Amino acid sequence: MTQQFDTIVLGAGGMGSAAAYYLAASEQRVLLIEQFELNHQRGSSYGVSRVIRCTYDHPIYIELMRAAYPLWLALEKEAGEQLYVKTGGLDFGYPSQESFQILKQSMDQAKLDYEYLEADEVSQRFPQFSLDDGMAAMFQAETGLLRASRCVLAHIRLAQEKGTTVIDRARVRQIIPHPNSVEIQTATETYQAERLVITAGSWSQALLASIGIKLPLKIMPCQLGFFQTQEPETFKPRRFPVFLAHMNGDYGEMPYGIPHEDESLGLKISTFYGWQTVESPSEVDYTPSEEWLESIRNFSRQYIKGATGATISTRRCLYTLTPDKHFIVDRHPNYAHIVLGAGFSGHGFKFTTLMGKILTQLALEGKTEYDTSLFSLSRFEKKSLLSSTLE
Ligand SMILES: Cc1cc2nc3c(=O)[nH]c(=O)nc-3n(C[C@H](O)[C@H](O)[C@H](O)COP(=O)(O)OP(=O)(O)OC[C@H]3O[C@@H](n4cnc5c(N)ncnc54)[C@H](O)[C@@H]3O)c2cc1C
Repeated sequence: MTQQFDTIVLGAGGMGSAAAYYLAASEQRVLLIEQFELNHQRGSSYGVSRVIRCTYDHPIYIELMRAAYPLWLALEKEAGEQLYVKTGGLDFGYPSQESFQILKQSMDQAKLDYEYLEADEVSQRFPQFSLDDGMAAMFQAETGLLRASRCVLAHIRLAQEKGTTVIDRARVRQIIPHPNSVEIQTATETYQAERLVITAGSWSQALLASIGIKLPLKIMPCQLGFFQTQEPETFKPRRFPVFLAHMNGDYGEMPYGIPHEDESLGLKISTFYGWQTVESPSEVDYTPSEEWLESIRNFSRQYIKGATGATISTRRCLYTLTPDKHFIVDRHPNYAHIVLGAGFSGHGFKFTTLMGKILTQLALEGKTEYDTSLFSLSRFEKKSLLSSTLE
C-alpha cells in the first residue's frame, strides 16, 4: 500500500537532515529516506569536523553565513549540545596570490572584521606557523569548526521529535512526478507526497537526469589525514586556528587544517581542491593515497612545525562539483513541487542548517527570503547544459 506524506526528503546527509528538521518545524508530515545507514561514511557529511567561516571570496556567501551562524546557535540550544567551536581562522599566503586578493576584496566589500598580519606577527601570535618572508595572513575571529556528524544527527533527532518518519537502508530507485504530487519507489515500497526535496549529494546526477534535469556534476574523492602532533596541547582549538593556505603544490590546491578537540583523533589536514574527478559514485576508488600523505607532510614541515607526525587515520570523502563551484538550490523548472539542493562543491557543510531552511521555504512557499541568485538552475540552461529532454 502506498504511504502518504506531505513532504519527502530524499537523502539524509547534511542537507537532507536539515531540510527534514525545518519542514517538520513547519508542521509538515515528513519522510526522510536514506539509502545507507544514517551517518555513513560514503557521502560528504560524515566526520568529527568541518570548517565554519564567513571568510568567502564572494559577498553573497558572506551574507548567507551571517544568516547561518545564528541558526547554528539556535540549533545548539534546541539540541542541548555544543555543535560549533570557535577557533579563529587564518588565511595565509603571498598577498600577490589571486585567491588571497579576491578574498580580501570580498571581505572588505562585505565589511567583515578581520586582522591583517605580516609573517612575523603570525609567528608571534601562533608560534606553530613559520611563514616565508613576504607572506601575510588574514585572521577572522568567528571562524571555527562544526562537529559535523553530530550536526547531522541533531537535525535528524529533532526532526524525529517533531514527527518525521526516518527510513534508512532504503534506496530510492524511481521518482515519478505527477502534476500536483510525487511518488517515489524503493525495492519494496512506494511513498507519495505533495512535495519532494532532493538532497542526494554525489548521487544527484542520475536521479535528477531521470526527471529531466541533466547537470554537469563531477565527483571529487578528496583525501583527508588525521595526524599525531608533537605538542598536542598547542594544536587544540584555544591555541591553534583553522587555517587555509593560499598555495598549490604536489599535494593539490590550498591545504587547510582544523585543530583537534580530542588529540587521540589527530589534527585534520586536507587540500581544498586538486583531486582527480570521476563521473559517478560507482567509479569512486576510496583507497587512500600514501603519496599524498607524504606530500602534505612536506608542506607542513615547511610551514607548520610538529603538525604531521604519524598518521592516525586517513580516508576519502566526496565533493560534488558544479563547473563554477556554486551550489544548486532551486525548484524543478516543470514541477514546482520538486525542490533540489545539489552540487555543494566541497564547501556546503557550514550552510547545511540555512539550506534546510531555504529548501523548506522553496518547497512550501515557492520562494525564499535569502539571496540564492548564484545557485539557480537557469545558469546551466543559458549555457545549454540543461538537458534538452526537459519535458
Ligand atoms: C573531505 C571533505 C571536507 C569538507 N570540508 C568542508 C568544510 O570544512 N566546510 C564546509 O562547509 N564544507 C565542507 N565539505 C563539504 C560538505 O561536507 C558538503 O558540501 C556537504 O556535506 C554536502 O551534503 P549533502 O547532504 O549534499 O551530501 P551527502 O552528505 O553525501 O548526503 C546525500 C545523501 O543522499 C543519500 N542518497 C543519495 N541517493 C539516494 C537514493 N537514491 N536513495 C536514498 N538516499 C540517497 C546518500 O546516501 C547521502 O547520505 C567537505 C567535504 C568533504 C568531502
